[in-house]
Amino acid sequence: MPKAYPYIRFSSDKQKDGLSIQRQTEAIEAYLAANPHLEVDKSLNLEDLGKSGYAGRHLQKGGALYLFLEKIKSGEIEKGSVLIIEHFNRLSRLKLHKAMDLFNEILRHGIDIAVLDEKQIFTAESISSIDYIKAVLKFDLAHEESKDKSKKGKDNWKFKKEALRNSQNPQIERLNFTKTLPLWLEKTDAEIVVNEQKAETIRLIFRLCIENNGYMRIATHLNQSKTPRLDASNGPWTLDIVKRLLHNRALLGEYQPRKTVEIEGRARPIYVPNEEDPIKGVYPAVIDEDTFNAAHNGLTSRKSTGGGRRADMPNLFVKLLKCDECGGSIKFQRHNNKYKDYYYLKCFNSLYGHCVSLGTRSWRYDHFEEMFFKFSGKLNLDEIFKKNEQSKIIQKEITALTAKHNKKKEKIAEVLEQIEAMEFSKSLYALISKLESETEELETKIKQKYQELSSVKQEELDRRINDFKDINSLLLQSTEVETREKINNHLRGLIENIALDFKSKTCTIRFKNGIERHIHTDGMFASIPPKAEGEQREKDLDAILSWHNKTEAERQSIYDDADFKINPLPVSAE
Ligand SMILES: [Zn+2]
Repeated sequence: MPKAYPYIRFSSDKQKDGLSIQRQTEAIEAYLAANPHLEVDKSLNLEDLGKSGYAGRHLQKGGALYLFLEKIKSGEIEKGSVLIIEHFNRLSRLKLHKAMDLFNEILRHGIDIAVLDEKQIFTAESISSIDYIKAVLKFDLAHEESKDKSKKGKDNWKFKKEALRNSQNPQIERLNFTKTLPLWLEKTDAEIVVNEQKAETIRLIFRLCIENNGYMRIATHLNQSKTPRLDASNGPWTLDIVKRLLHNRALLGEYQPRKTVEIEGRARPIYVPNEEDPIKGVYPAVIDEDTFNAAHNGLTSRKSTGGGRRADMPNLFVKLLKCDECGGSIKFQRHNNKYKDYYYLKCFNSLYGHCVSLGTRSWRYDHFEEMFFKFSGKLNLDEIFKKNEQSKIIQKEITALTAKHNKKKEKIAEVLEQIEAMEFSKSLYALISKLESETEELETKIKQKYQELSSVKQEELDRRINDFKDINSLLLQSTEVETREKINNHLRGLIENIALDFKSKTCTIRFKNGIERHIHTDGMFASIPPKAEGEQREKDLDAILSWHNKTEAERQSIYDDADFKINPLPVSAE
């Protein structure tokens, strides 16, 4: 019994949706009732609702027709099955050659196409030249219809824009233009009105700007005073929001027309500078021209005098640091007094009051750098870097050899059992002496490997520590930008990120292999996080201290007992 696959599609032409889907469904049901020899398969749910056949969205991933094509290509849908459509234009409104490609592809895979409007089934076997001409004409028509509609939409938009530009009362004209208005405006039945509360916020922003505050300070002020955002979201004011608002000419009542560009068959508005003059008087103004210009003059003069100081010395930890509290990025900032420049690491979000709580998070850069290199050489690099290195390979070899060795031993025990049960046999004797000598050989090999392992481990450790020492000496030798960049590259090869806890002046170093280490400014480093407070913190410090006082053997037994490695390192300020 041949299978039938009904396919329904409509684009987002709103008034017709309900009717279109009903019409297609009814036609298909009637056809199926009249053709009881077909077995309907609706399991693929072949419906492209709201997908434009002009843009070809039904043929892109996620489209039902796309799915259908995949299934006929894979053979999952059998040859001889029938695709049922209401009209040629349900299949495609693409350009003619693309539509015909699609039509042919379906037929070529042995699938018949029933076009209900035509009261005809098209099959690869029996298709005639007249049938082809029919398909060509219908697909061409389908494409032209859509092209007209698309053009009409564009003309309509152009017409509306001209009407707006020439109108005696653009504000009224704007109402039948589009639905969306700037955030500080509201629509009543007959006019556009200003939301006074939001307008107050906007005027405050301009005032702050004219009083020589940059975006950063304005955002900080708004966040600290808990001023609601214009879009009523609970999110913080960001520099970007403030910046865009200060540049938005809609505040002066102007409307800047945007150009409509077709991208992937869809019309999208894009602002093209200088393409068209703004249309004045479209909105009620919230800011007057003088205020707007005064704010802008302030912004440009700040820019040239360097209102927000930018540090130009590249820090060694570029792209590695983040705020431990909010996860935000770290800003490298210069402060200067009469005598000296100081560099600071600061949580960028905290600069405008939106780290997890108010208050600036900062750490003097030279202090941080000194601490980092003082302790990083002692971060138990042996454990951190042994992964994927030669010692790891030798360790694997030892495991394999030990397994082999154990097997031989088992074999010997087996043979010995047999000897006990049986009479003495020469061949058994030969076998056992062979096994025994092999076992001895293996034992020697394992011993050698262990020796090799310990020397390799030591080498690896020395090398890593030297790498860090090299960094230290490089640092002492030179403060040249190039050297510091080299060091930064080196660190980024080893370290995933470094999270700064500004309050307790500790940092968490996450190495690329997943291991974490914690460094404290007061001269401690450990593999347990220094997060605890009060009594628990005292306990943690005690634990680290007591570890320091243990012998190697005692430490080893603790390792053995633990199913994971807790490895506090010595307390040290040196
Ligand atoms: Zn933060």
